[in-house]
Amino acid sequence: MVLNVTNSPFNEQQTELLNRLLPTLNGHQQIWLTGYLSAQAAAGVQTPGGTVVPAVPQAESAPQTPEAPAAPREVTLLYGSQTGNGSGLAKKLAKRLEEQQVKTEVLSMADFKPNNLKKIANLLIIVSTHGEGEPPDNAISFHEFLYSKRAPKLDSLNYSVLALGDTSYEFFCQTGKDFDTRLAELGASRLAERADCDVDFDETAGEWMKAVTEALSATPAAAASAADSAAPLSSDSESEYSRSHPFQAEVLENLNLNGRGSARETRHLELSLEGSGLTYEPGDSLGVYPENHPRLVDEIIAEMGWDPQENVAIGKNGAAALREALHRHYEITVLTKPLLEQAAKLTGSDTLARLTSPEAADELRAYLGNHDLLDLIRDFKLHGKSAAELTGILRKMPARLYSIASSPQATPDEVHLTVRTVRYACGGRDRYGVCSVQMAERLEPGDRLPVFIQHNPNFKLPQNPDTPIILIGPGTGVAPFRSFLAEREETGSRGKSWLFYGDQHFSTDFLYQVEWQRWIKDGILTRMDVAFSRDTDQKVYVQHRMLDKSKELYEWIDGGAAVYVCGDEKHMAHDVHSALETIIAQGGGLSPEQASEYLLRMQQEKRYQRDVY
Ligand code: NAP
Repeated sequence: MVLNVTNSPFNEQQTELLNRLLPTLNGHQQIWLTGYLSAQAAAGVQTPGGTVVPAVPQAESAPQTPEAPAAPREVTLLYGSQTGNGSGLAKKLAKRLEEQQVKTEVLSMADFKPNNLKKIANLLIIVSTHGEGEPPDNAISFHEFLYSKRAPKLDSLNYSVLALGDTSYEFFCQTGKDFDTRLAELGASRLAERADCDVDFDETAGEWMKAVTEALSATPAAAASAADSAAPLSSDSESEYSRSHPFQAEVLENLNLNGRGSARETRHLELSLEGSGLTYEPGDSLGVYPENHPRLVDEIIAEMGWDPQENVAIGKNGAAALREALHRHYEITVLTKPLLEQAAKLTGSDTLARLTSPEAADELRAYLGNHDLLDLIRDFKLHGKSAAELTGILRKMPARLYSIASSPQATPDEVHLTVRTVRYACGGRDRYGVCSVQMAERLEPGDRLPVFIQHNPNFKLPQNPDTPIILIGPGTGVAPFRSFLAEREETGSRGKSWLFYGDQHFSTDFLYQVEWQRWIKDGILTRMDVAFSRDTDQKVYVQHRMLDKSKELYEWIDGGAAVYVCGDEKHMAHDVHSALETIIAQGGGLSPEQASEYLLRMQQEKRYQRDVY
């Protein structure tokens, strides 16, 4: 029914506003508004117009209004993430919501039954984006469901999305954006706007949590003040050290694992966690804050003609001498689209502005892929800008995550890493992987590295120590499997294990060869198949070895083995996935679709876990 001045107590302007608003409200919103207004009236609340609406005694209020519904007090909180950031944030948010008496059910997206969507009133999503804008493993099936024909209308659902991502990737926060868009298309209403987080997510995530807690709480003001005084998001109750307050771990050992003549260099690093209170499990990662190469820092300062001792700001509250700031606090090797956009504003350069426009997406991708800050300065003539102006638009140095290669049972108070050194030449200059080259060239026993533990609940040994495990990890992807086997040895686990490993050459690149051999001899490692890609005319990769052993592999899988894949995401992980589909289809006599469903089920049952990037 349309309101007009004759059938309502509103003036013309109010009538017009209401007629614009009312048709846009869904059923849930209409009921909520009715209740809200009557609750305001009952409490004698001052309206925005300044009039005090008198408290109306219930008995006299006619016509009968529905009872004011309590503010939403139950929420389902789903997380999807590959590295454990999502689940960590979800746990912290759940704690804050519970403190505000909001009943919160926290679930991995893989454990949520999408058919229950119709039954819930409030949904919060925390999700990261993987690879080329893809959902992380535990979000794949929920993402597919929402975009399928089976997705229901969700008119009475309220929701909000926290998207985790990295601005150095083209499809920044794409999965979060997908969920946000799709839920709106299905008729759901936003409790709070989506927030998109870069790698340094604390501040943005904190603001989003505050907004959703206020929206869901019966007492928004109390929720806001509780959020302001809450513990930092990165804090870990087990230790005083965390992502925002890293532990300075002493280097105990730093070796090159590759033999003479190898094209590769792989560092085996042993660090001490003694006195840190930091604990980890096999499958977790270590976050490391690296330092930029001093040569690149000096080249930038010389190019700009800056004073290396000039004081510049670090974040909101800190400051440091410029050389120190560029060495330790700012990212100078990776360019991002937001950085180029800000540089375009700073310089007023039309060429730079055009490079960040939607029409230049391919050109931008190519430029970001192989240029650093020094190139940007030279290519777009950033000379003349002050140190404060330029550092003001740089990203804080992000931590690097490495899969831990040691078992806390076997080597307590230590953490081991396996890190491939990245060096290449481009545009007539030598380029360095920031962290790996620091480890290779400028890190000796006795030095210290700022570190924290990144727990990864999505890459864990089976709870039952007798469950057979199949481990697929070429190159440095083998790191967590050294941890898995050391743990199984130490805990006396009797489950069978099968390792597929590969690298370029048997003689120079067989990482940890002696350890695998000892574990085979001692019965800790049941089987091992290797693929040395450059020892034969035709390349041989781990998936070829898997296909060679297709029948036996299927027997292991069918018998309940858990499958783990670690290493390169772009090619290897996809090829290994296809090989597994083939093996399951052949072994089980299944169609390709059935085999892919079989693998999806394994993923949901946590029998197929990946740590790939
Ligand atoms: P890599 O470059 O992955 O090479 C290892 C072996 O895999 C080589 O024999 C290589 O052969 C082969 N290979 C190349 N393409 C393949 C494909 N499509 N399928 C199967 N095998 C293939 O080794 P890496 O330098 O150690 O890099 C490993 C990757 O894992 C990196 O992306 C790294 O970021 C990631 N990662 C590292 C860690 C860690 O540091 N602990 C943990 C997890 C993941 P050719 O070179 O002869 O082609």
